[in-house]
This record gives sequence, C-alpha cells and structure tokens, in this order.
Amino acid sequence: MNPSRTPLIAGNWKMFHGGESSVPLAAGVVAFAKELSNVDVVVAPPFTALAAVSAEIDGSPVGLAGQNLYPKPEGAFTGEISGPFLKQCGCGWVIVGHSERRQHFNETDPIVADKVAAALGSGLVPIVCVGETLAQREGGETLRVVKAQVEAFLDVIAQSAVAVAIAYEPVWAIGTGKTAGPAEAEEVHAAIRTWLANKDPKLAERTRILYGGSVKADNAAALLACPNVDGALVGGASLDPGSFGAIARAAQAK
Ligand code: PEP
Repeated sequence: MNPSRTPLIAGNWKMFHGGESSVPLAAGVVAFAKELSNVDVVVAPPFTALAAVSAEIDGSPVGLAGQNLYPKPEGAFTGEISGPFLKQCGCGWVIVGHSERRQHFNETDPIVADKVAAALGSGLVPIVCVGETLAQREGGETLRVVKAQVEAFLDVIAQSAVAVAIAYEPVWAIGTGKTAGPAEAEEVHAAIRTWLANKDPKLAERTRILYGGSVKADNAAALLACPNVDGALVGGASLDPGSFGAIARAAQAK
C-alpha cells in the first residue's frame, strides 16, 4: 500500500437521517472510528443534517462530506448548495457524480467534470463516482464506459495537487445486494490506475480508488484485499454503525 493512500471508508447516507436521527448515527461512527488506526472514515449525511453531524463529530477523526454540490459558488440557483456552503458546514469532502444523480438528475460527464473543478476550487476533496450499468457490463462495454467517465474529469484532477478519490461503483451492484467479485473489481480498479498513470504517474500514486456497490461486513475484507482497492464507498451498510465499523476494521488490514 502506498503510504499516501491510507484506506478510506466513506458512508453515503443517501436520503436517510436528514434530521435528529443523524446525531446518534454520527455518534456511533465516532465511537468506532476513535479505535481505528490507518483508516480514514468519512460520512455523507443529507444537507439538512450536515450542521448537526458536524457538531457531533467535531474533534473526532471522522470527516464530513456533502452528497452533491452545484458548480457555482452562489447565485440565483434555487434549491442548490455550493462548495463554499459545504465548507462552511464543516465538510472537507463531497461525493460527485453518484450514479443515482447521473440516472435521476441527468448528470452528464461534462457536468460531473464541472462539479469536480468546483469542489477542488472550494477546498473540498471530491469522491468522484464512475461505473457501468448491467446492460453495459453484459455488452462487454465496462472498460470503455468507465474510461470515458474518468477521461471526462482527468484533466481537472491532473491539474490539482489534491489527492482526490475515485469510486468505482458498478450501477448493477448499488443497493441490490449484488457485488462485483474481487477479481471483477480489481480488473476495473487496475485499469483506472493505468489510465491515471498514463496521464501522470504521480496522479496514479496519490489517487485513492474506492469500490462501491453492496459492500457489507461479510464481503469487505476480500474486496479491500485487492491491490488497487484503496477503500470503499458504502451506502446501505453505512446506516448501521455496527456494519460500517466492521467494514472500516476490515480496511485496517490493508
Ligand atoms: C452507494 O450509495 O454509493 C452505494 C454503494 O450503496 P450500497 O452500498 O447500498 O450499494
């Protein structure tokens, strides 16, 4: 493991725990994260819970992420949240281009690239999501599709010294209970590393490539053991501190 790529375990709470229930959940994450070494733990609550979670994790090793951002700093964009606003809420991170946003909110590759640039410009570390649909995998298009998604923001991340994270999340594995096997995941992660290296070897060395898609306590260790899997983006299992903690502990073995 490259020392600049400490394993990163990020929990995407999606549209759950947007109010008071976010606080005990965050407290549960803090409790296990304090006992870990050599693992970075980040949670991404809904916008409405960011302030409460920020207060709860203050002084702990847990990092805070937004689930999305708008690529302008401020303006007449009703309903949107900017990178500087996330910073003011205590975020150090932001998820960009999650497949649910690509699917339901028409986020295209150019929009994702704009958001990555805006995140970096706001001092946030983007966790940029890529991944193929089931039809694309069955059509043998996985690497072509993922490469195009990565290439869309490659120049942006290559121009920054910030160590961003890329999350490979096969769409067919998100929230379905199906997960890519370690060999399937490693094939795509290794390909992503190669594309980064072709651009700039240092970029490949510093970028953490996370796996996401039905990561649970019982499959995390095998996925995290893959040489190019530097952590996990976890949805459902991040809503239970017991499961999320077990995944984070599995990452300690890297
Ligand atoms: C996600 O939301 O990014 C995700 C991977 O969800 P799940 O772990 O529930 O598949």
